Amino acid sequence: MRFAVRTAVLSLAAALGVSAPLFAQNDLDQRINKEADSLLATYKHLHENPELSTQEKETSALIAAELKKTGYEVTDHFGQYAESGLNAYGIVAVLKNGPGPVVYVRTDMDALPITENTGLPYASHVKVARPGGGEVGVMHACGHDLHMTVFLGTAHMLAELKDRWSGTVVLIGQPAEETVAGAQAMLRAGLYTKFPKPDFVLALHDTAAVPAGKVSWHAGPLLAGADSVDITVRGYGGHGAAPQAGKDPIVIASEIVVALQTIVSREMDPQLPTVVTVGSFHAGTKHNIIPDEAHLQLTVRTMNPAHREKVLEAITRITNGIAAAAGVPAERAPIIEVAADHVPATINDLALTNRVGASLERALGKENVLAGEPIMASEDFSLFALEEPRPPISMFWLGAADPGKLKDAKEKGTRLPGPHSSEFAPVPDPAIRTGVKAMTSAVMDLLKK
Ligand SMILES: [Zn+2]
Ligand SMILES: [Zn+2]
Repeated sequence: MRFAVRTAVLSLAAALGVSAPLFAQNDLDQRINKEADSLLATYKHLHENPELSTQEKETSALIAAELKKTGYEVTDHFGQYAESGLNAYGIVAVLKNGPGPVVYVRTDMDALPITENTGLPYASHVKVARPGGGEVGVMHACGHDLHMTVFLGTAHMLAELKDRWSGTVVLIGQPAEETVAGAQAMLRAGLYTKFPKPDFVLALHDTAAVPAGKVSWHAGPLLAGADSVDITVRGYGGHGAAPQAGKDPIVIASEIVVALQTIVSREMDPQLPTVVTVGSFHAGTKHNIIPDEAHLQLTVRTMNPAHREKVLEAITRITNGIAAAAGVPAERAPIIEVAADHVPATINDLALTNRVGASLERALGKENVLAGEPIMASEDFSLFALEEPRPPISMFWLGAADPGKLKDAKEKGTRLPGPHSSEFAPVPDPAIRTGVKAMTSAVMDLLKK
C-alpha cells in the first residue's frame, strides 16, 4: 500500500514535470502556508507578552500546551538553577517515531529588560520594577519570540510528516538564555540521562544581518566565549591637595584601562578574534578626595579555552604589574575576580553543519542560503555540546531584516537595529515560514528513512 501511494506521488510529480524532492518541498510549502496566519498570531502574542529570564511562566505554559496538543510527550518545569535552587520553566517534548537517530531542537524563551521602541502595533507594553527603583520595559529584543514560533511550526510539521522520517525528535524550550543560566539548569537536571540521548542538537538564531526569507550558516566557531571580570584597584585615599601622601587608584586604574587595550593589539594572534572591553569604571565621591579604591568591570570574548586562559592571564599580569609600578604594596594589590557565569564559545560541528547547510540549500534554494559569519556575542547553546555524550551541535542564522532597509543600510553605511536594540523589529513574514521550512527540512534530512 505504501509503495502504491509512493508510486502515485512520483507519477503525479512526473506528470507535473517536477522532480520528486521538489514535489515534497512544494507540499511542505503548502502545509506551512496553511499555518502561516496562526503562527503569525502566536508570534504577535508572544511579542506582546514577553517575560524576563527565569520568569517564563506563561510563555512556557503556552509552548507546553501547544506541544501536548500536537502529540508530543511533554515534561515541563524541567531544570533547576544552581545559585537560587529554584525550579526552571524548561520544557522537554519527545516524539518517538521508530528506529533512528535522536535529534534535539532547542529554542530559547526569555526576553530582555528593554523598553520597546519599535512603534509596532503589537509592541510590548510590559513593565517590571527595576532593582534600584523605578521601572523598565520588557521586550523580546533578541527575537526569542521568533525562535519559539518557528519551533512550534517545526513541531507541527514534524508531527504531520511522521511517515517521511524515522527516529526520535526531542524539542527543548530553554529558559534564561540571556542570563546564561537556562541551558545549565536543564543539563544539570539530567536532560541527557532522563530523556533519549542526543545524536545531534540543532538551533537557530535570528539576525538583522540577513534579509527575512533567507538564512545563513557557518561551520566551526560561530559565537565567542564570554567572561565577566571585576577588578578592584586599591590605593591609599586622602586629600586631593596632597597626592604625595596617598596612592591614587583613579590614575592607576586609568593606566590599567589603557594598557589592557594592548592585549588585543599586541599580544593576541590577529587571526583570532578577541575582545577586551572595559564597560564600567567607578571611583570616588567628590572633587577633592582621593578615594581608596576604583572599580572596573570588563567583558572578555575569546574563541577557545587556551585562548581564554591567555587573555585572563594577560589581564592579571598587566593589572598587577601597573599597580606594583605605581608603588602599591603587595597587601593592597588589585583584586581580580572572574565571574562564575563563564559561557564557552559556540562551535558548530563541521560534519553536522555541512549536512545542515546542504539541507538548507535543498529546501530553500541556493539563492536563499548565504555564507554566515561568526560574531563575538555569546550563547549558552554552546553548553549542549559539552555535556556527555558531547553531541555535535549546530546553529544557523535566520534572516529577520527588512530586505529594503538592509540594502539601504549597507549602501549608505547606516545602522540597522539588531538584536538587543529597543528598535529591533524582525519581519515575521516571511521569516517564520522560512525558519519552519529550514528547520523541518534539516531535522527530516537527519532522520531520513
Ligand atoms: Zn540575546
Ligand atoms: Zn538570543
